[in-house]
Amino acid sequence: MLLILLLTISNILANPVLDKINQREIKIIKQKNNKTENEDSHRNLQGSSIRFSYDDQELREYNNTLHTKIILNALKVAFNFYEQFVQVKNPILDELEVQDCYFGALPIQFKKTIKNSDMHFILGLTLDINEEWIAKAGACSLLYPDNRPIVGFIIYNLKFLPSQDKVSFSNFEYDKLIKVTIHEIFHALVFSESFYKYYVNMTPEQYGTNKDGTPFLALPEILSFAQQHFGCSQITQVYLEESGQQGTAGSHWRKSLFYQDLMTGYILASDVTWSGINNALLKDSGWYDVKMDFHDRLFWGKNQGCDFYFQTCKAQPRPKEFCDLQNNQQPKIGFNYEGYNFQCQKTLLDKECGFQISQDNKSCYGRVDMFNNQENIMEKAGSSFEWNSKGVTSNLSPIGSVAFTDTYQAQCYPQKCIYNGNKISVELTIGSKTNIIQKVTCEEDGQILKVEGYNGELICQKIQDFCEQQFNCKNHCGGRGFCMNQKCICAKGYSGEDCSIINFDEIQVLDILDPFCTIYNDKNECIKCSEQFTLIGNSCYMNTSSKALLIKYVLIGLYLILY
Ligand SMILES: [Zn+2]
Repeated sequence: MLLILLLTISNILANPVLDKINQREIKIIKQKNNKTENEDSHRNLQGSSIRFSYDDQELREYNNTLHTKIILNALKVAFNFYEQFVQVKNPILDELEVQDCYFGALPIQFKKTIKNSDMHFILGLTLDINEEWIAKAGACSLLYPDNRPIVGFIIYNLKFLPSQDKVSFSNFEYDKLIKVTIHEIFHALVFSESFYKYYVNMTPEQYGTNKDGTPFLALPEILSFAQQHFGCSQITQVYLEESGQQGTAGSHWRKSLFYQDLMTGYILASDVTWSGINNALLKDSGWYDVKMDFHDRLFWGKNQGCDFYFQTCKAQPRPKEFCDLQNNQQPKIGFNYEGYNFQCQKTLLDKECGFQISQDNKSCYGRVDMFNNQENIMEKAGSSFEWNSKGVTSNLSPIGSVAFTDTYQAQCYPQKCIYNGNKISVELTIGSKTNIIQKVTCEEDGQILKVEGYNGELICQKIQDFCEQQFNCKNHCGGRGFCMNQKCICAKGYSGEDCSIINFDEIQVLDILDPFCTIYNDKNECIKCSEQFTLIGNSCYMNTSSKALLIKYVLIGLYLILY
């Protein structure tokens, strides 16, 4: 259980809560790479992808095969993601040595030598009921001569894994966990305040805290990205997140500037994207060769100029990215139209700017809690939580049901953008979960639609914006891939638009299906569970009679952690 005490540099959150960052200085153990490449040897690994390895002993101790499976599946998708565009400049030719780490307390069973790996992760699991972090990560061993990290940790919080009576994991939940895992791996690879001084050719002027107390990085590739993205050539420092705690933040992009990027300090809903600034940082570290065009789009602040960069929400007039804290008459929808129940509020990470933040991190892209009353009510009113659903301002409800009065509320409707020459329109499907299914089309921004069979009205979004900001892939890539530029990067062994084609001859096929599901539909959603399990939504839940036994297991698990 020692891993719980080990290095915790950062984490990521389900809800808008600050990252928990370890304030202690990391003790770096430097290793010698006996057979590392040098000028004279054959550069036989040059041009090959980064190679990862992992140690799941700690996970397996929990005896929860579902948790182990979920984490390993997410990890494999995340490794595959990095393999697509990252190469190490100084690959390990012989064996990677996992030695003492941090304060020298790495238990003996984790110490080993590993072949064919450039970066090794030790996986851990802990239960932190009171905190809102999903996972934490860090690295502790650096390799001579270029000081690249080679051993890291990822620790997951049991609180965000399926509860004791839910025994399956949806594509939507996989999608989130994959994003979290990619985020954590990035901290261990490159984005940690304690690493900056080890970057190749780093000078003291290129990182630190400026005279305003803002942590920054000033490296060529990230500066070039920021200057181009914001359309401001005067940017000489890329500002990092500041948590106000003795400068220990500084391992994330600033939320108010890079809102949608996966490497900001917290994720509000699932609409986050891998932007080019992350590729730029990997390259700037000097440790990696990187495919620079392998990234998604970033709309937040794009071409908004120097005022946006330097003044954010205080720029005049206030940029569209920020909301008015004084005005509670605003649509309850976020910047990306990703969810519902949004509200304009200040965040812990930026005490001055108003952001549209979803209460309880509610997404239109999928349901996690089938007992959520609000979502049940929304479904009865015409909402549906599908991979392609988005938030639309609407108080529609079927005639004869209880009418909604809040004209600013959002509903979640499956949507499709239709391109016809220069004209874009949005087709919305109302009532998928009811027996009054209606398709309506938004042709103009702000158009007000009445729908046959429904009370209330629907207000169309800004169509171009709505259609441009698409970050989801079909069926959330079946839980087997990462969605980038609306295309799935499928894990090894899978292919197709939603990674649903299984290539059995490739090894490493993910064991992703619910062990308690007996029949799936063509979307790979469970429609029938085995005996003793009940289907709720598309997940199998244990029948009440079997629950007692499982709770006992959970308690044993808890005891182990606390010990
Ligand atoms: Zn983080």
